[in-house]
Amino acid sequence: MEDIRKLQDDFGANITSASDSKTLEELRIRYLGRNGEVNRLMEKLPTLPSEERGSFGKEVNALKSAIKLALDEQEKKVSGEEISKLSDEKLDVTIPGIKPNLGHIHPVTQAMDEILQAFVELGYEIKEGPDVENDHYNFEVLNIPKSHPARDLQDTFWLTNGLLPRTHTSAMQVRTMETMKPPFKVAVPGWVYRQEREDATHASSFHQVEGFVVGEGISFANLKGTLFAILRKVLGSETELKFRASYFPYVEPCAEVSATCPHCKGQGCTVCKQSGWIEILGSGMIHPKVLQNAGIDPKKYSGFAFAFGSTRLAMLKYKINDIRLFTGGDLRFLQQF
Ligand SMILES: [Zn+2]
Repeated sequence: MEDIRKLQDDFGANITSASDSKTLEELRIRYLGRNGEVNRLMEKLPTLPSEERGSFGKEVNALKSAIKLALDEQEKKVSGEEISKLSDEKLDVTIPGIKPNLGHIHPVTQAMDEILQAFVELGYEIKEGPDVENDHYNFEVLNIPKSHPARDLQDTFWLTNGLLPRTHTSAMQVRTMETMKPPFKVAVPGWVYRQEREDATHASSFHQVEGFVVGEGISFANLKGTLFAILRKVLGSETELKFRASYFPYVEPCAEVSATCPHCKGQGCTVCKQSGWIEILGSGMIHPKVLQNAGIDPKKYSGFAFAFGSTRLAMLKYKINDIRLFTGGDLRFLQQF
């Protein structure tokens, strides 16, 4: 009798926690199956004294019926729940699909592609260089020795191994010249890195394009003509340029170039701070020492070089007043382009 109660309690605990039809089927086999608990109790019948057999058999049969009933009821309850759950998940093929998000070219890359297209039309070769440079190509060969104050103009991130993320695409000048024979025209797009405090107009990494030409008889007039051709293509055909003397150790003479503000066409607006001009790039004739460092005879060849921030140009082009928006990852911003 004690075994019967024990089995009853055991089943009671299991049935209340059975919440799906798979578990219920397992319980049915465990209790009512051919080798189940109930049959195992029945097997004890012949071992009992004959006067107890009758009542024992009755009790076991009553338990068997109770178990069967409880299983059936629980089964009904659970399958009802399962069906209503399934009907909640039913597939309605008439509901419109979810449109996948399609990306597009980043605005800086769009501006960059347009700039590079202008270079290609002028017969330039496009070359890319390493983002991590050494002191030699980034400074030394560009006439910026270790003690030179011009190094201070480019706040550099130094790596612990003595290399550096390049501070300008000019690092590619000598690297490229060493592998080519003049005459050549090369454009180098790429990221550059400066230790800048970031604000609306400064970022610690931004995009530049370098252009340089080396050949016989290359003059400052060629530089001007090239800059006009490229900037008019990118900023509009009315663009005028203003050259102002400046200083970079790797060019001589050196000119900082401003272009007519593409927004007000030189009339003055908030983008150009009412001046009508936008400072756009640094340029000049390649210093003879730099040519020499690249193994090119400066008596025979001359060349010019210039570099501008394509991120800055993209800001001008799209009237963007905060450089951080480009890398902020805000879709509301990016989806406008
Ligand atoms: Zn303006």
